[in-house]
Amino acid sequence: MNLARAADKRTEQAHHHPRLVLRFAVVAALSLATAGALVLFVIRNLDVRNAERQGISRAQLVTDVVIRPNLRANDLEAPVRGTRRAALDALLRRHLTADSVLRVSLVRPDGLVVYSSDHRRIGARVARPRLVSESLTGKAVGGVDRLGKRKVLASYVPIVVGKQARQRGVVVAESDYAAVTSSADEAFFPVAGVFEVALVGLFLLLVPSLASASRRLRRHSEELAYRANHDELTGLPNRYRFSVDTEATLAEGGRVAVLLADLDRFKEINDALGHAAGDVLLQEAAIRLQRVVGGATLARLGGDEFAIVARVGDAAEAHALAELVRETVELPFALAGFTVQLGSSVGVALAPEHGADAEVLLRHADHAMYEAKRLGGGSMLYDPGHDEGGIDRLTLMAELRLAIEAGELDVWFQPIVSLETAEAHAVEALVRWRHPERGLLSAAAFVPLAEQTGMIKSLNRLVLAKALAHQARWSEEGVAVDVSVNLTMSDLLDTSLPDAVRMALTAAGAEPGGLVLEITESTAMTDSARVRATLGRLREMGIRLAIDDFGTGHSSLAYLQHLPVQIMKIDKSFTQALGDGSGSKAIISSTIELGRSLGLTVVAEGIETAEQWDELRALGCRYGQGFYLSPPVPVEELLGLDHARAAGSAAA
Ligand code: C2E
Ligand code: MG
Ligand code: MG
Repeated sequence: MNLARAADKRTEQAHHHPRLVLRFAVVAALSLATAGALVLFVIRNLDVRNAERQGISRAQLVTDVVIRPNLRANDLEAPVRGTRRAALDALLRRHLTADSVLRVSLVRPDGLVVYSSDHRRIGARVARPRLVSESLTGKAVGGVDRLGKRKVLASYVPIVVGKQARQRGVVVAESDYAAVTSSADEAFFPVAGVFEVALVGLFLLLVPSLASASRRLRRHSEELAYRANHDELTGLPNRYRFSVDTEATLAEGGRVAVLLADLDRFKEINDALGHAAGDVLLQEAAIRLQRVVGGATLARLGGDEFAIVARVGDAAEAHALAELVRETVELPFALAGFTVQLGSSVGVALAPEHGADAEVLLRHADHAMYEAKRLGGGSMLYDPGHDEGGIDRLTLMAELRLAIEAGELDVWFQPIVSLETAEAHAVEALVRWRHPERGLLSAAAFVPLAEQTGMIKSLNRLVLAKALAHQARWSEEGVAVDVSVNLTMSDLLDTSLPDAVRMALTAAGAEPGGLVLEITESTAMTDSARVRATLGRLREMGIRLAIDDFGTGHSSLAYLQHLPVQIMKIDKSFTQALGDGSGSKAIISSTIELGRSLGLTVVAEGIETAEQWDELRALGCRYGQGFYLSPPVPVEELLGLDHARAAGSAAA
């Protein structure tokens, strides 16, 4: 993904929340205000109705107390005139001036106004005859009217006048509407005020919880963003984030190195000590690497793969960084009471020469890393000349699996001879693969691949079975030769190994005393209880054990002493450095001394010249193996082991 776009997305996310909060606040405020207005409208309406009813009651009271006792029956018969009218005027003026009553009329049941304080109305028809008949059913009623410009409340109060004649009629009192409802206003405004304050308070109460909800939302989305960009176990950037950062670094221009580091043997340690220990190991490796890379980006791509993108001056600087990474990872780790040591393979790809984007660089670093692994670890710069390897590796892996399943791998043998007599007392079994297209492949070309993909155990069992079968045949011919077979770490972690070896011996009809199992020095030094137990059981079965490639690991002598090992094979690099003045002679001599003091048989590997042979013999080394004596050969060429003897006598 394009970096700028990713950045946009992030800011977009960040701005999203305040806008959301604002929108919510406005909606909440508006709906609260509407609800408030509605409630107030209803309250106000109830108040006004109430005030009107009170106005009508007051009119009834005035009618009953003041007007009716002073009326005569004939007042309701016809329009009142003259002195009677003046008398009624005086009566009303006396009692009603203080009140808000604007006009009082006396109405006959048929709607004729027989008297009114407004004399112009006398003899007219009442405005609302329906209210007149309604009130005549016995209850005072009211309605809102207009009187000129004023709004009035007209109350219709029924009356009965006279003792014998009993004349019925209606008193219509029209009062100032504003005056009537002023009491309602008095009650309403304080209520409305309190209500409004309560609403505003409610809203303010809502705001903090709204803000905290939005804060939580933001934290949540930040956490999601973090998780999308980081590896959970180590907290380092993940693959996605690594690509983004790499693109950003590339965009700045200049030379950039992408390093890919894979921890060798991590899987075995993880299996042996458990996942919890494996997790701790990865975390510690991450901390160490972070220290080494400083400001550069370090990421965990998954499993035991780490990647680094760094700005470098040239290829040499990139290579130095790769070596630093490797050395850091290969320092021993203290883990769950054990000291464990990892190997590592580091691949390096450079921009701009090896690629212009993160994906290509990572792929090329991956190729380089596998190339480094194939050569037994170390660091490697991407080499475009080797590039078909990437796709080939997968094909090769699939083909190797088929070859192992079909038992199609060959076992060749290399004699191990006495440096004194040149006689071969033993052979080492070395696996070979006759590939239909690639021709004969030696172990170095595919054993590392088998180790990475977990096929190594079945490969080793196949070699063991074939080697023992050959040994049994030789013994039938009367030739007694020890056979050495190579094992790897995963074999020793497998507690079923001793039983499998026992079954292989039985199946071939071979003796345990004629079998030597070789383990490399670094495997032997793994301070794992499981490995030690397996070695102990093999030893109890009468099988001998050899430490292969001695001198390449970091053995502690104290530890070596406690291993049930009988043979020590000095790595070919020391043999080959003999005579070049590098101090290899002193190392070999002290190793031979060490072996002797521990009661071990010492074998020198990789003898290629007569000089090396002579020198080793002079140093007191009793056995040797190498091209000078015989290269590994197919079994048919090993007839009577004459090669070794011939080579030996040639040298003598
Ligand atoms: P190794 O066990 O140290 O075997 C010796 C290697 O050195 C062999 O390489 C052999 O061909 C080579 N060699 C022998 N003499 C000389 C010499 O004079 N000069 C030089 N330069 N090399 C010499 P090869 O067969 O390619 O095997 C490489 C490694 O692969 C072996 O090292 C061993 O660790 C592993 N390997 C071979 N076969 C098996 C197997 O069946 N199982 C397992 N697990 N590993 C195997
Ligand atoms: Mg070996
Ligand atoms: Mg070796």
